[in-house]
Amino acid sequence: MSVTVIVGANWGDEGKGKMTDVLAAQAAYVVRYQGGSNAGHTIINDYGKFALQMLPSGVFRPEVHNVIGPGVALDVETLTRELQTLQERGVPAPRLSIAERAQVVLPYHRLFDRLEEERLGDRSFGSTRRGIAPFYADKYAKLGIQAADLYDERRLLQRLEQALESKNVLLEQLYGQEPLSADRLVPELMTWGEQLRPYLRDTTALLHEAQQSGATILLESQLGALRDPDHGIYPFSTSSSTLAGFAPVGAGLPPYAVTDILAVVKAYSSCVGAGPFVVELAGAEAEELRRRGGDAGEYGAVTGRPRRVGWFDAVATRYGCKIQGATQVALTNLDVLSYLDRIPVCTAYELADGTVTEQFPVSARLEQAQPRYEYLDGWRTELADARSFDELPAAAQRYVEFIEALIGVVVTHISVGPRRDQIIRRD
Ligand code: GDP
Repeated sequence: MSVTVIVGANWGDEGKGKMTDVLAAQAAYVVRYQGGSNAGHTIINDYGKFALQMLPSGVFRPEVHNVIGPGVALDVETLTRELQTLQERGVPAPRLSIAERAQVVLPYHRLFDRLEEERLGDRSFGSTRRGIAPFYADKYAKLGIQAADLYDERRLLQRLEQALESKNVLLEQLYGQEPLSADRLVPELMTWGEQLRPYLRDTTALLHEAQQSGATILLESQLGALRDPDHGIYPFSTSSSTLAGFAPVGAGLPPYAVTDILAVVKAYSSCVGAGPFVVELAGAEAEELRRRGGDAGEYGAVTGRPRRVGWFDAVATRYGCKIQGATQVALTNLDVLSYLDRIPVCTAYELADGTVTEQFPVSARLEQAQPRYEYLDGWRTELADARSFDELPAAAQRYVEFIEALIGVVVTHISVGPRRDQIIRRD
């Protein structure tokens, strides 16, 4: 029996999708518990390559029950499109349950996201414009719409009218747009209700029962520790907690149910969007790492934006593992570094006042921080076919052990390529 949370220890895009797909082979449930369609989990398996935004990464395994928990920002259009894509590409219809309490991302959440980013211009936060910040703002302002609200026309209309009162003032006065009418939104949202009907249920009861009966459950997070609104690089964070501590809340399980926290860590650094990124590389060095990174270069799975890249950042990753409460680490993309003669690793930051620190600073002191590097020997051999730690070249083993010692968490999995089988278990 186990409940494992799979989280990112960095800025996101660590390879959580691949790790969830791999570990789902032994799981009965895979649960998404936060975030929405604003990040993609890349999965490469026998059916091809997929970038899942809404569906849990267990959907390729017919025996796995996939759950979208109450903490998720439910984007119905993206969900429907993804289900259709799976069908078109020959994937058997997944087992899927969606929490009745999950709230839906509304058309005006996307509209406000775009209008606000445009208004901010150069000062924008690099939003993916999927409506996530306006969605969570409404949720906590008690203006959101739960999936179960989509079946009661009167209640839905009343909820929308209440939400639109102040939004229409903003639309007209701040953004110079036409006001929105609740009447016009209701039919579209009720159609969404019909699309969701086969999947909606009390997923909290489902998961509690599953946990009590000893089922193996994976809780799959989106984005990484450094994007957490409380502990990350605020305000360049996301709008829901990316931490394992939130997983039982967002999924609907008791906190004591969690048995393991697997932090996914990338063998180098990558970061999408704006915000401080101490190890950021520029020029030819960056281009080469970006081109070689991931399965087809480091470009955003949702936006296609080039990701910012840098060497491994032990200061950020140690902190990321700490705030995740990581009990084990999966180190991914180790194969990507095979082209290097020597590999820099950032082991400390130098702050604006000259202090050298190994502790990850608060945002106000992070902007000016400079990386301090140590250098390890490269291995200059392909790793793609290695399936055990012993098969790795000695220099690659040293790199893994060096990182393990720096972050203070045991590395139990090493990923040496994007495919399912390209994994080394190290127990
Ligand atoms: P996620 O959101 O954490 O699931 O990560 P993304 O899917 O956004 O980004 C991870 C990228 O790395 C994708 O392009 C994956 O196909 C790729 N990937 C995952 N593990 C490995 C690995 O070990 N080696 C290589 N070369 N690519 C990997």
